[in-house]
Amino acid sequence: MIPVTTFKGQKVALFGLGGSGLATAEALKAGGAEVFVWDDNPDSVEKARGRGLEACDLSQIDWPRMAAFVLSPGVPLTHPKPHWTVDLAHANGVEIIGDVELFVRERRAHAEGCPFIAITGTNGKSTTTALIAHILKQAGRDTQLGGNIGTAVLTLEPPVADRFYVVECSSYQIDLAPTLDATAGILLNLTPDHLDRHGTMQHYAEIKERLVAGADTAIVGVDDSYCERIAERLERAGNRVLRISRRQKLADGLYNDAQRIFRGDELIADLSGIQTLRGSHNAQNAAAAIAACLAVGLSVDEVRRGLASFAGLKHRMQPVGRRGKVVFVNDSKATNAEASAPALSSYDRIYWIAGGLPKEGGITALSPLFSRIAKAYLIGEAASSFAATLGTAVPFEISGTLDRALAHASRDAEADGAEVAVMLSPACASFDQYKNFEVRGESFVSLVAALEGVTMLVQPITGVT
Ligand code: ADP
Repeated sequence: MIPVTTFKGQKVALFGLGGSGLATAEALKAGGAEVFVWDDNPDSVEKARGRGLEACDLSQIDWPRMAAFVLSPGVPLTHPKPHWTVDLAHANGVEIIGDVELFVRERRAHAEGCPFIAITGTNGKSTTTALIAHILKQAGRDTQLGGNIGTAVLTLEPPVADRFYVVECSSYQIDLAPTLDATAGILLNLTPDHLDRHGTMQHYAEIKERLVAGADTAIVGVDDSYCERIAERLERAGNRVLRISRRQKLADGLYNDAQRIFRGDELIADLSGIQTLRGSHNAQNAAAAIAACLAVGLSVDEVRRGLASFAGLKHRMQPVGRRGKVVFVNDSKATNAEASAPALSSYDRIYWIAGGLPKEGGITALSPLFSRIAKAYLIGEAASSFAATLGTAVPFEISGTLDRALAHASRDAEADGAEVAVMLSPACASFDQYKNFEVRGESFVSLVAALEGVTMLVQPITGVT
């Protein structure tokens, strides 16, 4: 845990007692602050009390005496409307911050120079974050990985010189971190997302920009117009900017195609053969990771070694097993068509398991990729509407359930004779048949493991089918 010493002896209010909220309250308390915590959910309040925290209704506290108000990133700060606690903090002139801000203040107070890489973007954050941490660890660096990726940042080890921090930041976390000052900041891309919480695309982009604006080196993916303008603006302001692109060769910056990453004309990395980094989207994530690792002092050789041994992230185009020429791929995280597109683009011939709870627009947007699909196996509520979209363009069957879909897809893939993928990339939410996309993915892995003659690349979690 990182005890938050910057509020020692002061009173701090905190709202939102999910995983990171509880950890943040404990870190503040451990550092000597007097913390008053609350949540709209009585169960969360009870849990906090059980852990020895002082829970009290924040509508009743003496707000002018609070040194800060710490808000969980899941709680609305601005849209659709500010939470009632936010209104109270504003009315009393109390600053509103989140756990990432507490972390950056601790870092400045105790180990200002320790390398800190912060990552944001609409897509690819977790992959890039995990990849950077992996490269650093492989290179023997003392590495801490956390933030939006699932480990609350204040549960990490405290900042000391030569300890490397790799922190994934959501837009909500950036919104609550006014002095975010990474050594290297990455903004991968920007497409409309979470606009219910940010109001407009403009506001969403402004928040994301702050992460790179505060960094010593700003690494910006310039393939969309928002990010392109951000890179230009930062450069005009005198910031150090490193551009990455999968669309255009850059004289100064990193360019990638589907497999290779170049700095100018120099080949920096060749990803062919690295199954976990297939596709030009992953090559872009790798380019961003390379740029960040070089910015914090690693050599090109150290970076290459790390890339080669990256195990990938679960449920995101994850190769889980192989039988002869057939690779089994778990892409359960793809809960809409946009998210399935990179996976379908990354393999030439696919036996595709899709369906679940459909999202607006269905799979119409994937039609340019239909030629890669040898056959589709449709499951869940979306099966009939997906069948209608596939029409005569792609052979399909309505399998109904994942076990039937996999049994038939693996049989057909085997008979195909070519190098093919059997891929679960549902383009749908999972809730009609599963608790969440993780359980759906684990179920796929277990079913693959139960097939005869498959060499597993990952081990299934027992008891999930
Ligand atoms: P995030 O943490 O931002 O949600 P992930 O690394 O978990 O991102 O990847 C989620 C999905 O986003 C992937 O399965 C893939 O479909 C897509 N994706 C990953 N990287 C990129 C990228 N650089 N550009 C566009 N889409 C991407």
